Amino acid sequence: MALEIGPDGSARPAADTGADTPGARPSGQRRRELGMRATLLFPTPEIARQYYVPLVYTACRTCYSELEPDEIFRRAVSGQVATEKQQELVRRVIESGHGSTIEHIVFTFAISGVTRTLSHQLVRHRVGVAFDQQSQRYVNYRRPAYMIPGTLDDAPPDLREQYVAEMDGAMRLYGELLAAGVPGEDARFVMPNATRTNLLMTINLRALIHVSGLRLCTMAQWEIRRLFQLIRHEVFAVSPFLGSFLAPKCVPLGYCDEAGNRDGHCPIRPHRDEVLAAWAEKRDAARRAGRELPTL
Ligand SMILES: Cc1cc2nc3c(=O)[nH]c(=O)nc-3n(C[C@H](O)[C@H](O)[C@H](O)COP(=O)(O)OP(=O)(O)OC[C@H]3O[C@@H](n4cnc5c(N)ncnc54)[C@H](O)[C@@H]3O)c2cc1C
Repeated sequence: MALEIGPDGSARPAADTGADTPGARPSGQRRRELGMRATLLFPTPEIARQYYVPLVYTACRTCYSELEPDEIFRRAVSGQVATEKQQELVRRVIESGHGSTIEHIVFTFAISGVTRTLSHQLVRHRVGVAFDQQSQRYVNYRRPAYMIPGTLDDAPPDLREQYVAEMDGAMRLYGELLAAGVPGEDARFVMPNATRTNLLMTINLRALIHVSGLRLCTMAQWEIRRLFQLIRHEVFAVSPFLGSFLAPKCVPLGYCDEAGNRDGHCPIRPHRDEVLAAWAEKRDAARRAGRELPTL
């Protein structure tokens, strides 16, 4: 059964997307929203199902077993060790933060139609992740594409028209510069943040959980948050079990640590201040009763 993380961060059965069916892909609508796409190129559902949990299980068991890793792996892949047993160990190890075990598996995504605003944020992630991005030096665009954020639909119509005119103007100037012999690497200086771009991203599971924790958070900018929702959807499609670890960081943490959410406007988890205040109340109540709560 496919699972998805709800707005409250809890896992629940997903709408029927055919996601558990080998080779099935979720409906294209969500993945193409705003012209942005994230497609999982590797692993295929077959490889994910057959090898990914056994690989992580092998990493975990190697630490505690007299058996050699290839024998542990053989038993896991052949089904001699029940999938549920493998998943239980993997979940325990991930929840305990023993992250090296999940660096053995990677996911490769084709990301297209996102803006340079998004890509600038994405490539700030440095560990356990590799990027290749369409070059504005080497590609001479016939007409660069750009994105119109949804919020502009709510803006006064003349402002939206002005936005479109400015973008079109910048892209027209880009073409004129190229036509006048200005090299692409200089003509691109007129391109706005809204310019679309394509990337290939390969990321190990440890890094993917970390980055998803930051970018699925409601404090993240909407476009990159949307991208990670699409990415989570893709991972769920090949492995609901592994996909279930992709959640806003407050979900595994149990509380929100974002200063911007001190007012508690995001209700996924209570803010750390609230948790500490509740603890202080409990401590004070204990003191009034003549007891001291043990702390280190
Ligand atoms: C909501 C939000 C708002 C942001 N706003 C801004 C902003 O206004 N301006 C801005 O410049 N950036 C901003 N950022 C980017 C942010 O500061 C980080 O650069 C980015 O999120 C990458 O995070 P990271 O360092 O955890 O990632 P990764 O590079 O993926 O690193 C993963 C983890 O590895 C460890 N690590 C990595 N490198 C080192 C190192 N050199 N030394 C020790 N440990 C290391 C850390 O534990 C780190 O968390 C924002 C990010 C978010 C999510």
